[in-house]
Amino acid sequence: MAYGLRTKLSFTYAALALLLVGIISLFINYFFKIQFNDYVIAQQKQSNQSIVNLVEKQYDASNGTWNVGAIENIGMSALDQGIILKVKDLNGNDVWDATVHNNGLCMQMLSQMAQYTQKYSPNLKGGYVQTGYILTNDFQKIGQADIGYYGPYFYTSNDVSFINKINTILAIVGIASLALAFLLGAVMSRRISRPISKAVEAASQISRGNFKQRIKEQSTTREIKQLTTTVNDLADSLEKQQQLRKTMAADVSHELRTPLASLQSSLEAIIDGIWEPSRERLESCHEEILRINRLVGDLERLERVEAENAILNMTELDLSELAQHIVNNFETDFFKKGVKLNLVCDSVPVMADRDKISQAIINLLSNALKYTQKGGCVELQIRNDGRSVKLIVSDTGNGIPPDDIPNIFERFYRADRSRNRLTGGSGLGLAITKAIVEAHKGSISVSSELDKGTVFTVSLPKSRR
Ligand code: ADP
Repeated sequence: MAYGLRTKLSFTYAALALLLVGIISLFINYFFKIQFNDYVIAQQKQSNQSIVNLVEKQYDASNGTWNVGAIENIGMSALDQGIILKVKDLNGNDVWDATVHNNGLCMQMLSQMAQYTQKYSPNLKGGYVQTGYILTNDFQKIGQADIGYYGPYFYTSNDVSFINKINTILAIVGIASLALAFLLGAVMSRRISRPISKAVEAASQISRGNFKQRIKEQSTTREIKQLTTTVNDLADSLEKQQQLRKTMAADVSHELRTPLASLQSSLEAIIDGIWEPSRERLESCHEEILRINRLVGDLERLERVEAENAILNMTELDLSELAQHIVNNFETDFFKKGVKLNLVCDSVPVMADRDKISQAIINLLSNALKYTQKGGCVELQIRNDGRSVKLIVSDTGNGIPPDDIPNIFERFYRADRSRNRLTGGSGLGLAITKAIVEAHKGSISVSSELDKGTVFTVSLPKSRR
């Protein structure tokens, strides 16, 4: 059976807490016993000594007699504490003996103390122990006191109730720490398992095509934060792809409909005999087909660079050398149209995808050529600009109307549709250029003045960030 992360974590915390509380209790118990036994032994010695002192005081030195009544009181209260007192005079005769006074009570007390002690120290090998004390008066021996008890140490009823209290406190502390550990464990496992469950739930929603799904909960645990960010990024990218696919399909069908419809009506008119299949008409149809072909070609290129996971083939290349190569290829087209083409460049090594950067420069130069009239001038500059490289294409063409400037990088956008029909643009060139520049972590901007000219500026980082 598979258990959830939360259950597993709770069990682990609980087991750890149980183990910890168990170990701590064992330690406390062990050290407490040692300390307490030392205390009991010291206490016993002290109370023996005070009994001896009390007994010594009951001797009347003036006539050499003992106050037997007082000694009996001392002996009986000592017996209450589990101590058997025997007092002998100088000649060894009994003055007072607890066993003679009440042997039954003595035995009962001894067995009682043995019982108490055995209960809490079951391994103790105890038995009756007797210690003799010399009784003195003014440094003169006056007799002997024998003090007997269950040894090497014994617990009185007070000691037993003290031990019981301590044990109860330890048990309460243990149970309380266990409960606290369980509570903490539950809270901790909830804190860890909740965001993971959320991530699992979000990932499964995403896998079912719900790309709007996001994990909103923030975790302070680094790994969990990374997990939620990754899942959210995945959803972002899938949503973007989906959106891209949708608009692409809509744009493409919209763009193809017009040329196809005009092609269809032209061909139908020819088939129905309304139009003569003249060379001129067939050439016009052919042109339309070429336009559709270009559009499809541009779409393919855009698809390639816009794909989120477009892999750039980065190499170190000299932009000035690449620019020179492109300018050489363009020279005839510019010459034919009567437009001047200048190249001004610094030698700038840069990390870039050679084919894609070439495509971007070609798009900008062919636009400049397209929209510049005979006698005009186009200039391509490559400038080393510290951390970045500036690639500037300027022309003295007809410029872009200010209202169109914000839209020219959008797919299928053409500033002047009627003029565009003549130039044959698909409206994808700048969208492709922008996608290439952004894939290189660069930026593109434009400034233009109607009937004066246009300047496109591409900024590329020298090394990929
Ligand atoms: P197209 O294939 O139609 O040229 P682009 O995406 O390359 O498509 O350009 C979009 C529009 O931006 C063009 O239709 C044109 O109106 C305008 N444009 C681009 N470059 C220039 C330029 N150098 N001079 C004037 N207009 C330009």
